[in-house]
Parts: sequence; C-alpha cells; structure tokens
Amino acid sequence: MTTEVLVVGAGPVGLTLAVDLGRRGVGCTLVEKKAAPEFLPKMERCNARTMEIFRRMGLVDRIRAAGLDRHVPMDVYIALAMNEPPLLRLPYPSVAEAQAQIAACNDGSMPREPYQLISQYTLEPLLKAIAGDLPSVDVRYGHEFVSLAQDADGVTATVRDPDGRESTIRARYLVGCDGGASPVRKQLGIQLRGEGNLLRFHQALYYAPDLFDRIPIGPGPGKGRHYHIADSQATFLIMQDSTKHWTLHAVVEKPEEMAAQFEKTIGVPMRYEMLYVGEWKQNLLLADRYGAGRVFLAGDSVHLVIPTGGLGMNTGVGDAIDLSWKLYGTLRGWGGPELLSSYEIERRQVGDRNVGASRYASLGRRKWRAQFRPNIRDHTSDGQAARDSLARVADVEQRKTNEMIGAELGYRYVGSPLVWDEPGGPEHLFREYVPTTWPGARLPHVWLREGCSVHDVIGDGFTLLRLGRTRADTSGLERAMRARQAPFSVLTIDEPAPRDVYGYDLLLLRPDLHVVWRGQQPPPDPEQIAALATGWSA
Ligand SMILES: Cc1cc2nc3c(=O)[nH]c(=O)nc-3n(C[C@H](O)[C@H](O)[C@H](O)COP(=O)(O)OP(=O)(O)OC[C@H]3O[C@@H](n4cnc5c(N)ncnc54)[C@H](O)[C@@H]3O)c2cc1C
Repeated sequence: MTTEVLVVGAGPVGLTLAVDLGRRGVGCTLVEKKAAPEFLPKMERCNARTMEIFRRMGLVDRIRAAGLDRHVPMDVYIALAMNEPPLLRLPYPSVAEAQAQIAACNDGSMPREPYQLISQYTLEPLLKAIAGDLPSVDVRYGHEFVSLAQDADGVTATVRDPDGRESTIRARYLVGCDGGASPVRKQLGIQLRGEGNLLRFHQALYYAPDLFDRIPIGPGPGKGRHYHIADSQATFLIMQDSTKHWTLHAVVEKPEEMAAQFEKTIGVPMRYEMLYVGEWKQNLLLADRYGAGRVFLAGDSVHLVIPTGGLGMNTGVGDAIDLSWKLYGTLRGWGGPELLSSYEIERRQVGDRNVGASRYASLGRRKWRAQFRPNIRDHTSDGQAARDSLARVADVEQRKTNEMIGAELGYRYVGSPLVWDEPGGPEHLFREYVPTTWPGARLPHVWLREGCSVHDVIGDGFTLLRLGRTRADTSGLERAMRARQAPFSVLTIDEPAPRDVYGYDLLLLRPDLHVVWRGQQPPPDPEQIAALATGWSA
C-alpha cells in the first residue's frame, strides 16, 4: 500500500500528528504495535500551549469534557501524609479560575487557554477516535513497524500485522513517534545523549473511589493535584482525571511494597484497588538528530525529560505541530527544501532547552528533599525545625517544577531558515513569560472582544496582520505570498489592544502562529520574505 505520511506510534504525539495531517487532508497511515490504547498511567497535564494547539485543531472542548472537572483545584501540597497537616500548600487555579484570570487580562502575558488535567489513558482513545473519523487517516493498531529503507522518492517500511504477517508500506515521508526506545531512531543510527537512568521509581495506579471526597482527611491537605510526601523515598501521589484514580510514585525495592506505600500515604483505612504497578526511570536525554532524509522523529523518540515538570508530551505535541504544516506544504508543492530541514533546527533547540528546564526543576526537588531528616515526624523542637526547614526550602524549590510558563509559551525559533533574522532577541526564561513578537516567537494572545482572541480569527495558512489602522501599501508582499501558492490571507484588525501588545503595524505569521517577520513599513524586498517563509531562501 502507499500513503503520503506513515506515522509510527500512536502515543499522544503520533496521534496529534495524524489528526493534524488529517485535518489538512494529507493522506496518513498510523501504525501502532499495541492492539488498543492501554489503561496505563503516564502523563496527566496538557500545558497551556498544548491546549492552545488543541484549540486551533478544534479539539479543545472535547478534551476538556473528557478531562478533569474545571472546578477542581490544581494545588500542590507537601505533606507527611494525607491525614496530617500539610507542610506547604502551593495554590494553583482550577481551570475555571484560570479561565476567569485569562478573561480579565489583555496585556498578552497569558495563554489563550489554560492547562487541562487529562490522563494519557483518556487522551489517547479520544485522539484515536478523532483520527479514525478523518477520511484521509488510516489508523492501524496491532501493526508493528519492523524496518525501513529510503530512497530519493520515499520510504518503504516493513510492518508486521496482528497475525504476524509482514508487508510493506510505501510513503513519501515517515515519522517515528515511537517513544523512548524508538525503533525508528535506532534504525537511523541516531543516539540519545545526556543523563540516563538517574533514579528508578515504581509507579502504581489505584482505584480509590472515596479518596477525593474525603479530602481533607482530618487536618490533612485540601483538594489538589499533586501530593509530595516528605519522606526518604521521594513518594508522590497524583490525582488522575476522574478523581477516582490515583497514581503513586516511590523509590521502593519491590512492586508489592506499593500497596503499603499507598496506605501509609493516605494515613487512614480506605477502600482501594491497585490496578497496575510498573517501573519508570528518570532520564534527561536528547537525540543528536531529529531525523535523516525522509524520516523524521518526534516526541519521546528524541527527548526524554523528568516528567513531573510536564515537559514530556507537551514538548512532543509542539514537535508534531511544527512538522505537520511543513509536511503538508512540501507535499502540496509550495514548500521549499528549507521547510522540512527547518524542523530539526527549530525543534531540537526547544528539546534542548526543555531538557534543561526539566533538569533545573528536578534539581529543585532534589534540594528540598535533601532537607528530609529521620526525625521529621517527631513532636519535638528538633522535629518541628526539620519540618520548618523542609517547607521553607520547598517553597522556593518546588515552584521550579510547577511554574514553567516561560518554557511553555516563550520558546522562540532562533536561527531558523524560515524566520527573518533580527539580531539579538529576548532571553529564554523557564519561569517567566514576557510577550514578544520577535521573529520566531509565538504570537501572544490578545482579546479582541469577550471570548474572541486574535488567535481565534487567524486561519490555518500564512497571515499578514495589518494593525493600528496602518495605511502601509502591502500589495507587494501580498502578491509575493500569493505567487508562492501557499495558503495565505490578509487580516486587518483595527482594535488598539493587539497593536499595543505587538508593537508593530505589520506581522507575517506562519500557520503555527509563529512570527516570520514584523515591521512598521512593508519589507523592501517582499519576494525575499515570501521565499523565506515558504522554505525557498537557500
Ligand atoms: C509518570 C509519568 C508522568 C508523566 N506526566 C507528564 C505530564 O504531566 N505532562 C507531559 O507532558 N508529559 C508527561 N509524561 C511524559 C509523557 O508520558 C511522554 O512524554 C509521552 O507519552 C510521549 O509521547 P510519545 O507519543 O512521544 O511517546 P509514547 O507515549 O511512548 O508513545 C509511543 C508509541 O509508539 C508505539 N510503538 C513503539 N514501537 C513501535 C513499533 N515498532 N511499531 C509501532 N508502534 C510502536 C508504542 O506502543 C507507543 O504507543 C509523564 C511520563 C510519566 C512516566
């Protein structure tokens, strides 16, 4: 069989890529070795940028409906157990509260969408169903990628079906979204480098239907999302999207210990069932390359981070969405050679920075956990001093994990062949997001009226934004863009707020809302900008 794009792996990244290719009408086959999505715990938090991306894909309402109730607080606690007074509470807004905060702010500093807690085992079947409904997408579970060979025109992959029979799929491009062990990456001979196997955790999934309703248990912490237990085993408890399921992570020797660990964490007898126990390892790894020839890699196949900062799947969704429109443009003929070669340049730097952000966050957690003393539970002045000291350090250090808005929204593609080179540029900050339209950055969200953002009125192609009632003659740039045959439109916005935040009268935006070029006057050489935007600058 033949297809335009063969996607290997139906984790959240491969599924997002398949859905986005499908909604652009690209022929795509998705092969997944598992027979069906599994009910296994992994990620649970889509960050703000991922939710903005899902909004542009038309998925945001379905994802919110399937995820955690919008009124449940997202607080993070540090405690000795769930039935004891918390040592520290870090309050974070529920989705409903965050939406109200976003609605009240129009300085570009907030995302269009807040985060959403949705467990990976809920998200994957939802995305699978959406992909399966798209006419140009062929979703094949139970099909394992075995090997590949590529030539000048395409890639031939050997795939094993559920009966063990091997057949070939011919594709113009192949994308390995096949996770940390990535057979596709290994076939290409690409290495992951960095720090592997830093710490080994056991993780268990529990059905504990009464736990959420009984919180706070006695003087214990209130309702929240993460409960870090101040012990010597780095134990933490995570609420899943139903509020009836919970995961516990801890450094223990044997899987059987995870039942007692849960009971100790809860602190009081409670009805529960342990549904799964497994192991996972902390890694901080980045691939040397994000592909070779007609084969690309995305998600955990190229970057592995310590997941508690939420930069694992979320970084992978960013990869998928960067690659999707570039594959589309190349396959439809308007994209030049730089379009696909820019993928690695743009996304590997984000992967590198996010591995760094994850290291920074995990060092913070290690720092406060190093304050643990065996006497921390003692009702003595020494015990109190141990509790106070841990809480004081955690108040600074734990925030590094939970407050990553700069890493989430503030990434900018530096040195990309698709982006106009304005020398300099703001620093990349993990913790802080400062709105900017510097070429390569994501366009900040600004409200036009209640419930309608600039993001919402920008289409799926390239967009020339005309702001501040400019009278500039942009016909040269418009002609140059149209001559490239890429999807392109002009959008004039007279409201003052976007002009105030963006600081420029004219902005050329890519399909993924990143800025190609900005100016107060039309560019002197519009053909050059149009060539650059569409990957023909070489
Ligand atoms: C405990 C924990 C908590 C986490 N929390 C978060 C979080 O809150 N936020 C966040 O962003 N990230 C989080 N992560 C990380 C997140 O789960 C991963 O980054 C994410 O799953 C990566 O998605 P992926 O699609 O790249 O890879 P995967 O989810 O690993 O999917 C790869 C898919 O490829 C398939 N596959 C492999 N080999 C083949 C083959 N030969 N043929 C066909 N198919 C194949 C696999 O079966 C699998 O379905 C967490 C991870 C863990 C372990």
